[in-house]
Amino acid sequence: MTLNGKHALITGGGSGIGLAIARALAGVGAEVTITGRRESVLQNVAGNGLYPLAMDVSDEAQVVSGVARAVAERGPVQICIPNAGIAEGRAVHKTDAAFWRKVMGTNLDGAFYTVRECLGGMRGTDWGRVIAISSIAGLKGLKGAAAYSASKHGMIGLIRALSEDYLGTPFTFNAICPGYVDTEIVSRNVTAISERAGVSEDEARAMMVSANRHNRLIAPDEVAQAVLWLCGPGSQSINGQAIEIAGGQF
Ligand code: NDP
Repeated sequence: MTLNGKHALITGGGSGIGLAIARALAGVGAEVTITGRRESVLQNVAGNGLYPLAMDVSDEAQVVSGVARAVAERGPVQICIPNAGIAEGRAVHKTDAAFWRKVMGTNLDGAFYTVRECLGGMRGTDWGRVIAISSIAGLKGLKGAAAYSASKHGMIGLIRALSEDYLGTPFTFNAICPGYVDTEIVSRNVTAISERAGVSEDEARAMMVSANRHNRLIAPDEVAQAVLWLCGPGSQSINGQAIEIAGGQF
């Protein structure tokens, strides 16, 4: 399989799942724009087909100008991966409007701005893929994380609507819904979950590991391999789907 010269854009591409996807796509020839807020993180991993672009996805103007810059440098985005996200959890009765807006603004508004801006150029090409990184929290409610769950459900709704809007075109729209993946988000959540559940950090980590029926965290590259498959020749008929990668957790 080759994606030679195809321009991919991955939000949150400087770390974790996004970086694994970026490297996998660059490995088969794609030119990959990786975005995030922290320029130093992006610069550290740039090179070998990865091009850094600092932007905050929750800020519409930054996404509009950032995607335009990437398109001017590398052509229309044909693989768009809205992946940037924050995974902070609070029960509804502890969720104020500012917290709700922060999570929705990054996870859902950010995905919407990114996809809309990338679609502009993609529509002028003869092939395109939009693959949103949602979560199993987009398929079922995640206890103590209402805003996160709502934002991840929303990403799947966006993908399903797009697949209807563009039926019969060479563009497909899918979401990937991982369970617990071994990234910084999980490390940060160990502390949060241990505080919420009143257990030790070791017990909190064990809870995440045992949620996966294979009794392990998922590797970021397992998500990247699914993205590669969705960009490959065998997946043309996969459209409007929410694909779970969670070791049977849900
Ligand atoms: P990371 O924390 O490594 O990745 C999150 C990325 O999003 C970072 O690169 C971060 O970069 C970027 N980001 C966060 N906020 C913004 C913003 N406002 N604007 C631009 N970029 C932003 O964790 P993961 O790789 O695990 O997470 C990637 C995605 O996968 C998230 O959407 C997460 O919800 C989802 N996911 C993760 C799971 C897991 O268990 N790890 C499970 C299911 C889904 P920077 O801080 O520099 O902006």
